[in-house]
Amino acid sequence: MNSYSLFRRSRLRLALWYAGVMGVILSVSGLGMYRAMVQTKWAGMEREIESIAGTLHDSVEPLLPPSEEPTAVLQQIFPDLCLSEQPCKATPTLIQRHTIGISDRTTYYIRLFNHQGKLLAFSPNQPLSLPPTLNRTSWQTFRTANGIRYHQFTTILHSANTHTLANEANADSSWGYLQIGRTLEHFDAEIRRIQWIIAIGLPIALSLVATSSWWLSGLAMQPIYHSYQQQQQFTANAAHELRSPLASLLATVEAILRIPQSNQQDIQIMLHTVERQGRRLSHLIADLLLLTSLEQNSSSKPFQPCCLNDLVSDLTEEFLELATAADINLTCQIPTCEIYALGNESQLYRLVSNLIANAIQYTPRGGYVTVSLVRSDYTAVIAVKDTGIGIGLADQERIFDRFYRVDSNRSRKNGGTGLGLAIAVAIAQKHQAHLKVESQVGIGSIFTLEVKIVLSNT
Ligand code: ADP
Repeated sequence: MNSYSLFRRSRLRLALWYAGVMGVILSVSGLGMYRAMVQTKWAGMEREIESIAGTLHDSVEPLLPPSEEPTAVLQQIFPDLCLSEQPCKATPTLIQRHTIGISDRTTYYIRLFNHQGKLLAFSPNQPLSLPPTLNRTSWQTFRTANGIRYHQFTTILHSANTHTLANEANADSSWGYLQIGRTLEHFDAEIRRIQWIIAIGLPIALSLVATSSWWLSGLAMQPIYHSYQQQQQFTANAAHELRSPLASLLATVEAILRIPQSNQQDIQIMLHTVERQGRRLSHLIADLLLLTSLEQNSSSKPFQPCCLNDLVSDLTEEFLELATAADINLTCQIPTCEIYALGNESQLYRLVSNLIANAIQYTPRGGYVTVSLVRSDYTAVIAVKDTGIGIGLADQERIFDRFYRVDSNRSRKNGGTGLGLAIAVAIAQKHQAHLKVESQVGIGSIFTLEVKIVLSNT
């Protein structure tokens, strides 16, 4: 499987997982919200019925007549109710009085039963299919033949003269029952509307989640893909860099083998070439290993305060011989106060030595290289300035890339591996330092390393 399809499959899998998890969360929370909404509405509706029933109950109870067949009295108390087994004229007012401001007045109906469960009176707007017998369950929900649901509440009524009734062979101390109910038409319509919103909204939300998952997984895969490509490029470059000296080394060895033993002088020259190529190879491999270890952060050595004054003066001294041989004027400018930075000393040495080596390497004979150390507030700046060939603007962005060389032939000829600045950047990053370049072709370059200082003896 090639890397492209591997990454595509990984992206797809990531998107599916993301969409799945988000989909489940969205569906569960949507369903939860739906249930919570329905339950709140239902509870609110039951509270409303209960409160109307309570008001009616309290105002009706003191007026109840002793007899359970009190047609005339009932008509006085409930002029708006139809009396059982009598012609009904629909003038609803009582239920209206008690539901004013609470809800739609036509929504409610009431029914009155005697203690035996016989229907005495009822609102003219009660559902037609309601049975005339009493179901004593407090809360009931039922559906009529025309599909409309009703919810009703039944409560006991006690008359002021109940004890009289009880004495008259009535074991049940209640006068009768008050039933108050309402249609669930509006409630059901609202629930259906919410269900529709969920039924349409959820698939839309899920498809949006799926699309954004695909996009987000693409974003998440990008740095991995980029780093994978860089890794592949690095492997290819490293293989290429290793192949060239190895090929020339093998060619030299083959040539040596063909030279007659007697020609010791030629053999010596060629063995020197082999040695030089061997060194170059080992140098390259050492650089590769160092870069890898810097990236893996595998060095367990703890950071220690390093004296930057010593670092600059030591390195200038070390490179003096090389600079003199190249006819380059190498100088350093160090402040009298000691400046310390927290870090790995050998790595910091390596970083600055790479910069000085480059400055000498890319400065023509008679040029100048100056290494300076300056302190500013909380940072120290080490600058390596040369009057060398300079670097073009386009190349300045790429010289810190691995194996990038502005002039490959020149760099190789001088033994450069193209890893010097990549190593310098890796070390700088590890020390939270900042390495930058300013350069002008034909005038020179200045590489500056800005590093945090931890201790300074003034
Ligand atoms: P190399 O081993 O080729 O020197 P580096 O990573 O150290 O590799 O540098 C990368 C490239 O940057 C070099 O090939 C060179 O072209 C350019 N470069 C680095 N330092 C300087 C400098 N001081 N002046 C001009 N060019 C430079």
